[in-house]
Amino acid sequence: MLDKKKILLILGILVSLLIFTSGDLSAAGKKKIILIDPAHGGKEQGIKLNKDVSEKDITLRVALSIKQLLAKENNLEVFLTRDSDKTVDLDDRKDSIKKIKPDLLLSLHVNGGFGKDASGFELYYPEFGEETVKEKKAAKDNTSELKNKCQNESLRMAKIIQGNMNALFPRKGRGLRKADLPVTDGLLVPAVSVEMGFATNPEDKKKLLSVNTQTEIAKALAKSIKSF
Ligand SMILES: [Zn+2]
Repeated sequence: MLDKKKILLILGILVSLLIFTSGDLSAAGKKKIILIDPAHGGKEQGIKLNKDVSEKDITLRVALSIKQLLAKENNLEVFLTRDSDKTVDLDDRKDSIKKIKPDLLLSLHVNGGFGKDASGFELYYPEFGEETVKEKKAAKDNTSELKNKCQNESLRMAKIIQGNMNALFPRKGRGLRKADLPVTDGLLVPAVSVEMGFATNPEDKKKLLSVNTQTEIAKALAKSIKSF
């Protein structure tokens, strides 16, 4: 016959087993959070491609398409800084980053300028900046460690995207560039900004306006996010 002590012991074991397994499950099920930032929107059109279509339309279409392509991925949660044609200023975008705290921010733009011959995609990743010795001494937290992590993660993602976009637009990549990204200025978040092609190059413009190419770009970026 079971006495009270034995029952308590068995209950204890059951409870700890339950805690152990559920803890395990939540660790395995931790989702990566991705924030996609379709640049411009609403009053801010960005570069005009023709009288009906501007940069803001193309960035939104590609962003929505990426979200749709990743909807069934259980280990990913995808957010957008805007999901319609509305004005979102820089502070709003930064507020989204602070609120959502994504594992990765992907900004989408269309390039322009440098004459008609400039073409191809371009990838930018943020410069998180070296701290001065004085700052390092003053910082009691792990800021410089976090900066390093963000820098490495951004570069790692930029390389993955470069590979997938190169497969799509051979010999068209203009490479990776480290630059100050206004949207991540002062924030610690792994980020890549994709300039999808040049609106000022006739061939690129035709591609950017084609729904097929927009889908292909979205697929290349969705694939990159999955392997990140
Ligand atoms: Zn832009």
